[in-house]
Amino acid sequence: MRFDMVITGGGVVGIALALSLERCGFNTALIEKSSLSVGQPVSDRKQVFMLNLASLEFLEKIGSMDQFPRESVQNVFEIMVRGDKRGELLFDSVRSGLPRLGVTIQKEDLVRVLRNLLPQSQVTIFDEDSVDQVKWSRSHVDIKLSKGSIISSDLLVAADGVSSKIRKLANIGVKLHDFHQVAVVSRLIGRSVNGVAYQWFQKAGGVLALLPIGTSEFGVVWSMSEELGVEIIDADPNMFEQKLKNLVGDDLGNLRLSGPICYFPLTSVAPLSVVGDRLALVGDAGGTVHPMAGQGLNLGLGDASILTDVLTENPNLGLSSKLRKYQRRRSEKVAIIRHVTHGLHKLFSSNASVLTFARNLGMSIFDRSALLKRAAISIASR
Ligand SMILES: Cc1cc2nc3c(=O)[nH]c(=O)nc-3n(C[C@H](O)[C@H](O)[C@H](O)COP(=O)(O)OP(=O)(O)OC[C@H]3O[C@@H](n4cnc5c(N)ncnc54)[C@H](O)[C@@H]3O)c2cc1C
Repeated sequence: MRFDMVITGGGVVGIALALSLERCGFNTALIEKSSLSVGQPVSDRKQVFMLNLASLEFLEKIGSMDQFPRESVQNVFEIMVRGDKRGELLFDSVRSGLPRLGVTIQKEDLVRVLRNLLPQSQVTIFDEDSVDQVKWSRSHVDIKLSKGSIISSDLLVAADGVSSKIRKLANIGVKLHDFHQVAVVSRLIGRSVNGVAYQWFQKAGGVLALLPIGTSEFGVVWSMSEELGVEIIDADPNMFEQKLKNLVGDDLGNLRLSGPICYFPLTSVAPLSVVGDRLALVGDAGGTVHPMAGQGLNLGLGDASILTDVLTENPNLGLSSKLRKYQRRRSEKVAIIRHVTHGLHKLFSSNASVLTFARNLGMSIFDRSALLKRAAISIASR
């Protein structure tokens, strides 16, 4: 079987890209190692994402936004950021001239809607299957699947996550940065103020994010030291609940845990290249960032959007120059997010009192500068 595009990895980024390319007329195949049936459970289903305006635009283009039940998409109008002393920073949509800053959405709903769209499309699915071997030649790529099929394609796209097998088969090395932190993820019942998300930067590099879901629930993502993470996972959930209450205070009502506690080790992976001969890496396969800025999936959907544009915009371009264009366009954005998150992590990891003072003062100064805030929002939302 011959395709224009073969995508490996049917996570959010892989499915969204497959739908986007298929809508542009490319004969597209999608390979996913687990089942893509709509009824299949989704891993990390309780995870909550904050999606920016560019991701929403892209999801709109592939026809998914009107498929979400109204209650599963929560507009975010304000993000309140607090430092470890008295630093405070408020991003708000009205003063930024935007209808909203983004939305929160549950992973479970996002995956279900995208999987639902697949059978209505012309995308050829190879699920519960994976890539065994890849042979790159000048004119095409041959792909041998575990269940025995052999398919070929003009371009292979790796959307197979942070440990991408395709990236390894293509011998693309990575730079690893270990934050020596874990992200503890759960759900919390409390009193949420309409469309406000919260972030607390703590000393020793901890960052707590509370993402509103409906009127009384939050998705919790708390990045913390490995030692504290292990202590929390091993302890009674009440201890985690108490630690959350100690940090947040009473502003959001009587907080109660409402979901299981999961944790993810935090490293950032930066491939030395995101393109190769007839190969492009997208989503986490193309690199990961610290989740403090809630940008990982946004960058992945950005990759899918840029790759679609580049592949469709100029049919006369040779394939390798198209891929170099993709690499150039997406690296600037990724580099900015990577530098900002690494920088903030370093700044808040220090206990030196002069830095504690400076970072909280810096936040308050930033808060008074409409220009700086607009610039930050424009980077995070595009
Ligand atoms: C704690 C935490 C909180 C986060 N919060 C946010 C947030 O608020 N906003 C945001 O934008 N991002 C957030 N992120 C980042 C986001 O979760 C990821 O960037 C995103 O899920 C990556 O999607 P993906 O489709 O690229 O990869 P994945 O979701 O990892 O999907 C990869 C797919 O490939 C499949 N696969 C793997 N290997 C193979 C193979 N050999 N053959 C076939 N299939 C294969 C897997 O089964 C999977 O379905 C967060 C991350 C963490 C850790």
